[in-house]
Amino acid sequence: MIKLSNDDIKSSVVQRIERISGEDFKKCYQCGNCSGGCPVSYAMDVQPHQVMRMLQLGRVDEVMNANSIWVCVGCLQCYSRCPKGCSVASALEGLRQIHLRRSEEAQKVSEIPVAFLKKAPQQAIVCGFRKLVS
Ligand code: SF4
Ligand code: SF4
Repeated sequence: MIKLSNDDIKSSVVQRIERISGEDFKKCYQCGNCSGGCPVSYAMDVQPHQVMRMLQLGRVDEVMNANSIWVCVGCLQCYSRCPKGCSVASALEGLRQIHLRRSEEAQKVSEIPVAFLKKAPQQAIVCGFRKLVS
């Protein structure tokens, strides 16, 4: 049984994710187009439309612990297919930011060995930092 509470639905963390992502989760009406077009939804334990639903219901911890926030490749297919103009990618970015700020996992540029920076492909560094820097 799932217990919903008004406090969770209107919690400060939900508001923070909305602020960071610029998304209004209430706009999503669960049509599923985002999940239908997501190229990596098969590898996600919470599908893109479910991410939006969980955020609407204030179930932040569940979605924060899902692998979906790391599996998303930021291709924006969900955004381009959404009839309501919602971006699941932005919601997931907001969740990643909150997760990294809560944990010690955020990577600092100064901690990366210079030898690695010299040989790593520039694109890999940029992509990695988009996900791992809060
Ligand atoms: S496509 Fe948009 S409206 Fe439909 S489920 Fe996904 S986020 Fe919600
Ligand atoms: S941006 Fe992320 S959630 Fe959206 S379609 Fe691409 S991989 Fe899926």
